[in-house]
Amino acid sequence: MSLGSSRAGAPGRLLPMDVAGRLPRLRSLLDGVGATALLVTNLTNVRYLTGFSGSAGELLVSADDALLVTDGRYRTQAAEQLAAAGLSDAVRIFVGKVQAQREQTVDAVRLMGATRVGLEAESVTWGAKRRVGDLLSPAELVPTGGLVEQLRQVKDPGELDRMKAAAAIGDAALTEVLEMLGEHRSEEEVALALDTTMRRFGAEDRAFDTIVASGPNAAKPHSPPSPRPIAPGDWVVIDFGATCEGYRSDMSRTFFVGGGPTGELDKVFTVVVEAQAAGVAKVKAGIEAGDVDAACRELIAAAGWSEAFEHGTGHGVGLDVHEAPAISEGSTAILAPGLVVTVEPGVYLPGVGGVRIEDTVTVTGDGCRSLTGFTKDPAVPGT
Ligand code: ZN
Ligand code: ZN
Repeated sequence: MSLGSSRAGAPGRLLPMDVAGRLPRLRSLLDGVGATALLVTNLTNVRYLTGFSGSAGELLVSADDALLVTDGRYRTQAAEQLAAAGLSDAVRIFVGKVQAQREQTVDAVRLMGATRVGLEAESVTWGAKRRVGDLLSPAELVPTGGLVEQLRQVKDPGELDRMKAAAAIGDAALTEVLEMLGEHRSEEEVALALDTTMRRFGAEDRAFDTIVASGPNAAKPHSPPSPRPIAPGDWVVIDFGATCEGYRSDMSRTFFVGGGPTGELDKVFTVVVEAQAAGVAKVKAGIEAGDVDAACRELIAAAGWSEAFEHGTGHGVGLDVHEAPAISEGSTAILAPGLVVTVEPGVYLPGVGGVRIEDTVTVTGDGCRSLTGFTKDPAVPGT
C-alpha cells in the first residue's frame, strides 16, 4: 500500500446541524410520559441535545429551562460547544465538583417546580437511580425509555452530511488497504492499516473495533482481528467504519484472495449479495423494519442456510454505531425519511468461514440512498 499522506477522503465543508431545534422537540414529548422535567444522563443524548461532547455531565430539561452540569475539565469546552450550537441563552451551564453539581441540580428542580422528573431508565444504574431518587425527593422519579433516542433516529441534513463523509472515508481507506489481503499480512496488520488510514483521511476515530476475519475465523460474526496470516484461498470478512464529528459509518464486505477455486462459500457469497440487495430494495419510508429483515431472510432460507443467519439484518446508525431502530425479525418500527440504517445479512459456517455484506443507507420517500459505496466484487489478487 502507498504510505503517502494524502487526505483523499477528508471531509470538506459540512452542512450545519440544527442542534438548537432539538430541545423544543424533546420538550414536546415530556407531557406524554408524565414528566415535568427530564434528567438526561446518557452522554450521547447530552451531546445530541446540546453539542457538548465531554466525558462527564448531565442535562436537566424542563418546559422552559435547561441546565448542563459538568466539571472543571470542561469549563471552556462546554461554553464553546453550546455557543457553537446557538444555545448560550437557552441552556445554563454549571461547572463544579460532583457535590456542587448535585446541589445545583436539586436547586434547579426546585426552581423549575418539577414534581415528576424523568430518568432515562436504560442509561442509569440501580445505584444512580437510588442516589438521584434520594437527592430529588420529594420530587418523584419517572422512568423514561428512548425519548431522546426516538428523536435521534431522524437525521437532519447536517447529520446526514457527516455520516456521508464518514462513509466516504471508509470507502477510501478500504480502497487503499485492500491489496494487503494478497500480501500474506495478518488480520491484525490489515485492521491496524485500515484504522490509521481512516485517521489519515480525516476520520476523528474508527466507528467501532474493526473486524478483519479470514478463513474459519469469518464463521464468527464478530471475530476480533488475530495474528492469523491471510493466505490465497481465504475468504475474508471486513466490517468497519469511520467517525466524523461524532457520526459513524458501518460497512461490511467479504473478499476472496487469489484466483483459485472458491469452494462452498462461493455459493454462500452469491446468495448473501442477493439477499442484501433484496433488503436494500425494500427500504423506503412507511414500511416496517421487519419487512426488510424478511426480504433478506427469505432468500437465505430458500438457499437452505436459515440456521446460519443468526443475527438481525441491521440497525440504526448515528452518534452511536448501534441505535434505534432495530432491523430485525418482526420489528414493527416504521421507517421514515431521514432514518439511517444498515442492511447486513450474513451466513456463517462453523469451521469453514462466513460471508457478510453490509451497507449503511438513508431512507428517502421512495426508497433509500446508500452512503457506503465500496464495490461488492470479492476478487482480490494474491499468490
Ligand atoms: Zn458493521
Ligand atoms: Zn452494522
